[in-house]
Amino acid sequence: MIFNIDDSSDFSLDNLPFGIFSTTDRDKRAGVAIGEKIIDLYALHQVGEVFDFDATILRQEALNDFISLGKSITNKVRSDIQDWFKDKDSVLARNPQVFVNQSDAQMHLPVRIGDYTDFYSSIEHATNVGKMFRDPENALLPNWRHLPVGYHGRSSSIVISGTSINRPYGQTKPVGAAKPIFGPSKRMDFELEMAFIIGKKTSLGDSVSIHQAEDHIFGMVIFNDWSARDIQKWEYIPLGPFLGKSLGSSISPWIVTMEALAPFRVPGPNQDPEVLPYLEYNGNHNYDINLEVDLMPDGGATNTICRSNYKYMYWNMLQQLTHHTVNGCNINIGDMMASGTISGKDTHSYGSMLELTWGGKNPLTLNDGLTRTFIEDGDTITMKAFAEKDGQRVGFGSVSGKILPPKTK
Ligand code: CA
Repeated sequence: MIFNIDDSSDFSLDNLPFGIFSTTDRDKRAGVAIGEKIIDLYALHQVGEVFDFDATILRQEALNDFISLGKSITNKVRSDIQDWFKDKDSVLARNPQVFVNQSDAQMHLPVRIGDYTDFYSSIEHATNVGKMFRDPENALLPNWRHLPVGYHGRSSSIVISGTSINRPYGQTKPVGAAKPIFGPSKRMDFELEMAFIIGKKTSLGDSVSIHQAEDHIFGMVIFNDWSARDIQKWEYIPLGPFLGKSLGSSISPWIVTMEALAPFRVPGPNQDPEVLPYLEYNGNHNYDINLEVDLMPDGGATNTICRSNYKYMYWNMLQQLTHHTVNGCNINIGDMMASGTISGKDTHSYGSMLELTWGGKNPLTLNDGLTRTFIEDGDTITMKAFAEKDGQRVGFGSVSGKILPPKTK
């Protein structure tokens, strides 16, 4: 090993996620996270001519062109780094200048996101929301168990971890009010999600079969789908989420590859009734990824308010992607598809304030005696995700964002 990586690090040698970073003397470029460092891939090629592809694509503002090289090449970059890191005479060992401290780097959106889709694939979340917004007796709509429900979101407002979000203005209709009002949202929320990133494009008219779907998925990030519940509740019928969602979504900066996540595959939940044949899959395609949400009031202490797991998803990524393209809808490299809020069965595993406080009825008590029904100005929400098994850890780092007061109009 060139240097020791702490056992508790998300960025183990088994992981090696890709991202876009810059420092005061390095413009935006591709990097690989390892321990507390980043390997500058462009600088590595400059000193070693180690890659047999056009290395200028490593010095771009997004990973799209790199990802377009295909998994045979992107996976080889990871496996080469694994080999070099273990070899004290390797090009990596001989050139310490290719390592950058993560603490000295600024992270950027890792891909140009052409299109963004948000699914609604946690049965616990869909049931909780259905009970609160619609009918406690028939929380799931009739289609829910037959297809992975989703909607087309906006990619323009997806931001990198660390970006603050202003409380949005909008139109709401308070309970009991005769007519709607306009003003800042009073029910700001987060949604704990994971998103996958498309690594192989298709043409209009093509469909990705369930057996091909994995080949089209490059990797994953943590996704916080900020939500204004009062705006959402008034606007969403009959066409679904709109301005209550497009106020911003935040992602973690490192794309963890599907190959790094492979050891953490687990069976999904039993799907009842049986799905239609085009959604039938073989093997294990859920992933055991621990999830955590922390709330930190302005100047206050960190409170862990939710612990969930990505393995709870009812619909898996292969089913989501297959369904998404079954009508011939084309996909492009860098497209992002989010899971929907990931809630578990017990109340501490609910992935939104809406569920944790049951629509604001049961406020959360924080460590310092403060209470919260929804997110207040100055609160920072941080989400973390990692998989761990047999001493092997593959993590995502975190995605963090602070809610600021509404912009003055
Ligand atoms: Ca969502």
